[in-house]
Amino acid sequence: MIIVWGTKVKHTLSGALALDCPACGERAIGDEYIVSSASHIYYIPGTYKEEGRYVRCRLCSMKVDVPSGANAASDVPIEMLVPDETVLLATNPKLADIRPEEPDPIRLQAALFTAVLSCKDRQEKEGNAGGFSGVLLLFVAIPAVIYLFVLTGNYPVLYVSIALGIIGVILFNNWYLHRAIAKEMKPYIQRTMKRCGLSIDALIENADKMGKGFRPVSKHLTRCREHYT
Ligand SMILES: [Zn+2]
Repeated sequence: MIIVWGTKVKHTLSGALALDCPACGERAIGDEYIVSSASHIYYIPGTYKEEGRYVRCRLCSMKVDVPSGANAASDVPIEMLVPDETVLLATNPKLADIRPEEPDPIRLQAALFTAVLSCKDRQEKEGNAGGFSGVLLLFVAIPAVIYLFVLTGNYPVLYVSIALGIIGVILFNNWYLHRAIAKEMKPYIQRTMKRCGLSIDALIENADKMGKGFRPVSKHLTRCREHYT
């Protein structure tokens, strides 16, 4: 008998707070998440224990440390991006004495693009796309290839269909990955475009200008352009 066990991790939204985001430099609202984990046997978890907290900036989407002295509140309006006086005093009163930095569109975009890269990384690691492709390969592509070969007994048909099957799975994998990134990053990308007064084309151009490391970002934005406009 195989015993399936391991650790389950969950991220629970606990509220929102004002912060001077160290990633994009903006005075913004961040959503606070509690990370907790539990051991599981056969995917049935035991008691969850808090492991830590992080804040996700509503503008650039980067995950940053909870500012010291800050307390997340559950009644911060969902559409608020920049804290007003009341939210500031209620969630992070220290900021009242600190002048916010001058907004820097380039820094905001750089932080956003970095967040897109780490989203892509995580999606690839979590392997959701790979998992689906594996299932597709197993239950659709391989039987189709075998069926075609049995039907025709023709080796060129076999090779061509194997190649097409592999290409199909790769294309599906890519499509799924980009769709997952677009789904998660859409609100942040749209907010940055609005805040910096940029069209999707200008954003793509800027990602390209920021160097080779951000090439996957401009490729993704180009590919999913219609999701963001
Ligand atoms: Zn930020």
